[in-house]
Amino acid sequence: MLTEKQRREFKQQLKDRYYDVREEIRLELLRSDNEHFIDLAGLVHDPEEESVADLLVDIDLALVDMHVEQIRDIDAALIRLAEGIYDVCLDCGKEIVVERLQAYPTAKRCTRCQTAYERSHMGHENHTM
Ligand SMILES: [Zn+2]
Repeated sequence: MLTEKQRREFKQQLKDRYYDVREEIRLELLRSDNEHFIDLAGLVHDPEEESVADLLVDIDLALVDMHVEQIRDIDAALIRLAEGIYDVCLDCGKEIVVERLQAYPTAKRCTRCQTAYERSHMGHENHTM
């Protein structure tokens, strides 16, 4: 179990990361030279906007896509933190070690399950039924 102090630290770390990623998205939108995207950049910047990821779901920019993925991961991690299951592995239900969470604050699986997950999701094609 995480201590209250650890939970606070992870929450702060995730929020900082969230704002960083959001700022990167905003800058990418501004650089896009597309009026609609530049409008969106203004919305992204609004600190009241909770669902930045939903706002950007239709944007067809590879870099933004990658960052939207990161925002979703951070969102999910913050929810797990609020629910008190932040350090519980999604697959096996065991505790994720703090060292792993410190290295990957958005980790949702323990090292063993993550390795298994990546192995089974490697190469989307050629899967036998
Ligand atoms: Zn696990």
